[in-house]
Amino acid sequence: MFEGLSDRLSGILSGLTRRGALTEADVTAAMREVRRALLEADVALEVVRGFTDRVKEKAVGAVVLKSVTPGQMVVKIVNDELVAMLGTDAETVDLNAPAPVPILMVGLQGSGKTTTTAKIARRLSDREKRKVLLASLDTRRPAAMEQLAVLAKQVGVESLPIIAGQSAVQIAKRAMDAARLGGFDVVMLDTAGRTTVDEALMAEAAEVKAATRPHEVLLVADALTGQDAVNTARAFDERLGVTGIVLTRMDGDSRGGAALSMRAVTGKPIKLVGVGEKVDALEEFHPARVANRILGMGDIVSLVEKAAETIDHEQALRTAEKMRKGKFDLEDLSMQLAQMEKMGGIGGLMGMLPGMGQIKKQVEGANLDEKMFKRQRAIISSMTPQERKNPDLLKNSRKKRIAAGSGVDVSEINKLLKMHRTMADMMKAMGQGKRGIGQALGSM
Ligand code: GDP
Ligand code: MG
Repeated sequence: MFEGLSDRLSGILSGLTRRGALTEADVTAAMREVRRALLEADVALEVVRGFTDRVKEKAVGAVVLKSVTPGQMVVKIVNDELVAMLGTDAETVDLNAPAPVPILMVGLQGSGKTTTTAKIARRLSDREKRKVLLASLDTRRPAAMEQLAVLAKQVGVESLPIIAGQSAVQIAKRAMDAARLGGFDVVMLDTAGRTTVDEALMAEAAEVKAATRPHEVLLVADALTGQDAVNTARAFDERLGVTGIVLTRMDGDSRGGAALSMRAVTGKPIKLVGVGEKVDALEEFHPARVANRILGMGDIVSLVEKAAETIDHEQALRTAEKMRKGKFDLEDLSMQLAQMEKMGGIGGLMGMLPGMGQIKKQVEGANLDEKMFKRQRAIISSMTPQERKNPDLLKNSRKKRIAAGSGVDVSEINKLLKMHRTMADMMKAMGQGKRGIGQALGSM
């Protein structure tokens, strides 16, 4: 097993026991370890640089909460950024087009195209009850066509009858015609590959693409590909307009760095993951799992989650303390809105506080739904830090700028400011009462 990033970071940041913000020097030291972990996971160098720059920006100045170590704090920030960069959960093959929907499979030879074609066909046929036709355009290796036909039989879908002497484009056109006549929903076109990206291969695939106008162009890539992953992904995407990536051999001991490299370079989603040679060895892509694998944190998942909970809780406590002192600013409001959004409505901190019923009712009366929380947070995030700390700065010209930045009317900003003022005033009044909010929270 590889040494987890958290172990390394805790070593580096162990001197940092004081509470406070992460300094530039702390973060720079931590980023050296992050860079090492990513490179060991085979993430391409250029991607590593961009990634650490972004994380650094987020981490410098982040407040280390007392219940987590600075190392955990950094791991959390790195992990979150990695998950965000890897994309959304469980993107699927898009079939939202007139039947027969053509899907073009591309990639280097040996990447797992033919196997993956069969795996996807099986899934579309079994789970989504689609009628799938497979066609091999691999005219260079006769055995390749036979291989696809055998796999098709195995997964219970049809394959285009093999006719010797046709070009890839001719076969593709024949497949589309056959699919139309036969009432197929999906046509999967399995192309030939070379061991390295080469012009003849690209030209042929481009020609097939022009002839069939595939709804999806899936790049099949081996998770064991190291630094080459970026070049491969870039070449295929530039030439063929990839719509999604399937990462194969994730059952091996690859750390999956190629996922990050290819995603970063193409911006295209990783849709599926191959986890074995068998036709059912295909899974959805889960960014959080792959992030763990890249960072080598296997057992740290729960730790990070726990830290996240603690961070939420501590933020709530700090906000409560500020409320008590009458220093509840727009930054705090934004945090509150985020919390409420997470809890699916009004509740969270406010709901837990005695005496908050009145505000709660008022806020509910204002028809606060999740969308509104999002919009209000967008408004706040369009403000400068100074404006958030001191809403009195918000005169008309600033309001106009913020309105433009967040895509709302100035009246919405006024509404938000009014709500903030009401909340802040009430909190201040309550804070001066006997049973302060801080106290109430402290006893939770
Ligand atoms: P193609 O040249 O791109 O069509 O690649 P193939 O589909 O012929 O696959 C090449 C080899 O990789 C075969 O032996 C497959 O069984 C194997 N393979 C494909 N996908 C996976 C996977 O996800 N995991 C493992 N372990 N092997 C795979
Ligand atoms: Mg093949």
